[in-house]
Amino acid sequence: MSETTFMGVERDKIDWKPTIDYTKCDFCMECVKFCPHKVFEVRETEEIKLIVRNPNNCVVFCRACSKICGPDALSFPDKNATTQRIKEIRKEEANG
Ligand code: SF4
Ligand code: SF4
Repeated sequence: MSETTFMGVERDKIDWKPTIDYTKCDFCMECVKFCPHKVFEVRETEEIKLIVRNPNNCVVFCRACSKICGPDALSFPDKNATTQRIKEIRKEEANG
């Protein structure tokens, strides 16, 4: 659970997180080493060795880990669409 807000909206309501394309990921774990926010979780004994465990820990509009991912396996939502959605949520909340 996160209690932080972004642009006045609760972080939990904002859909911003990395998505791992398992057809590209080679489980190098560079993204895990790079990100300090514990978004990813390594699962050594499982078939899928890496998952997005804490999506709401991801910093809204950060895409930094995708730039260090060699196979280009990480993708994010569209920034403009997300901004639009945040504004809509604010409007909905203002209207009660
Ligand atoms: S950096 Fe990319 S290829 Fe490496 S584990 Fe993360 S998502 Fe997979
Ligand atoms: S986008 Fe930024 S905050 Fe989110 S998982 Fe990647 S490095 Fe961490």
